[in-house]
Amino acid sequence: MSYHDFISFVRREFVRPEGHIPLHEPRFLGNERKYILDALDSNFVSSVGAYVGRFEEMCSAYTGSPYAVATMNGTSALHVALLIAGVKPGEEVITQPLTFVATANAIAYTGASPAFVDISGNTMGMCPQKLEEFLHKNAEKRADGAWYNRYTGARFAAVLPMHTFGHPVEIEKIAGICNQYKIPLVEDAAESMGSLYLKKHTGTFGLLGILSFNGNKILTTGGGGMILTADEEIALRAKHITTTGKVPHPWEFFHDVTAYNYRLINLSAALGCAQIEQIETFVAAKRRLAQKYKDFFSSWKDIQFVTEPENSRSNYWLNTLIMPSKEERDHFLQFTNEQGVMTRPAWTLMNHLPMYRNCFCGNLEVAENLAERIVNIPSSVIPSYVQNQ
Ligand SMILES: *Cc1c(COP(=O)(O)O)cnc(C)c1O
Repeated sequence: MSYHDFISFVRREFVRPEGHIPLHEPRFLGNERKYILDALDSNFVSSVGAYVGRFEEMCSAYTGSPYAVATMNGTSALHVALLIAGVKPGEEVITQPLTFVATANAIAYTGASPAFVDISGNTMGMCPQKLEEFLHKNAEKRADGAWYNRYTGARFAAVLPMHTFGHPVEIEKIAGICNQYKIPLVEDAAESMGSLYLKKHTGTFGLLGILSFNGNKILTTGGGGMILTADEEIALRAKHITTTGKVPHPWEFFHDVTAYNYRLINLSAALGCAQIEQIETFVAAKRRLAQKYKDFFSSWKDIQFVTEPENSRSNYWLNTLIMPSKEERDHFLQFTNEQGVMTRPAWTLMNHLPMYRNCFCGNLEVAENLAERIVNIPSSVIPSYVQNQ
């Protein structure tokens, strides 16, 4: 087996004997054109329009989240989710170092700082044991009943795990620890639309969860996001502060809070309605590709293909390899990209970025070790898989 075999395999599966094969491209195989033209014809292109509410209802029905509030992107959804969870300037939000920068940025927007807890090798997301150890070692309960970081003095305002590359973290264990400490759980499910833990959709285990519909995610609205919650009051609050805090009135402009212009626009929502109709087909196609990759890599002793963790159904948003060393990873990245097959390393760990370098960290040995060996390989929905289902 050689890297050439990998290139041939990918080109055959994607039915693209030559030319560039991206890491993840969107597929518009359903009612996308129809609904977007309909939105255009309705003259409601902006944040008021029938498709926005319809897309929220479809996301609520699909995820099983009683309420869903649409936003202009996943980052804004996360920003508002953290605000509603009660995160204040100077506090700390416990998250994982291996994530897309939006997770840490959304924390910073609230004026709080991320505090980093290690990931587990199985899920590549927040490790419940490490979270427990972290709190045991660093948290102290004060007279107000809240838990504070005994070294920095900051209140632990929320726990924010992320389902890395679509693979669910052990979210029930994390939720149990959050309950014990009475720290709100907010889930970054930006990458895991269609991923389930114990048959329950990711993003629905905490006080709030968020989804992203950026162009590179499994389902896209061009740009978009969704806040998920089971609490009606929270949902109303989320809607209020994502729509400029305007108090409903037939003509008066009265706003009762400094709020945001974060509402999803109708054109995007129209795209979303067409995309979500295909979500199960997309997940099935992606799981089929993952199975083929798994079989292909089973004979490669030193390369590990990452499969879904126990008790979960992963959407396999980005298929992932773990290489034996950083040198081997670099060699693989160089070779595949030169051949026109797009592959990418994991994100630089958040605790290594200049903005978050001085944030409070637990022991991050697993993340430090894995981050430099991870490679993502082409993972788009393959249209012929969809047709042959
Ligand atoms: C994509 C993503 C987001 C949100 O991204 P947007 O581009 O703002 O929709 C947040 N967190 C993670 C982990 C992501 O991958």
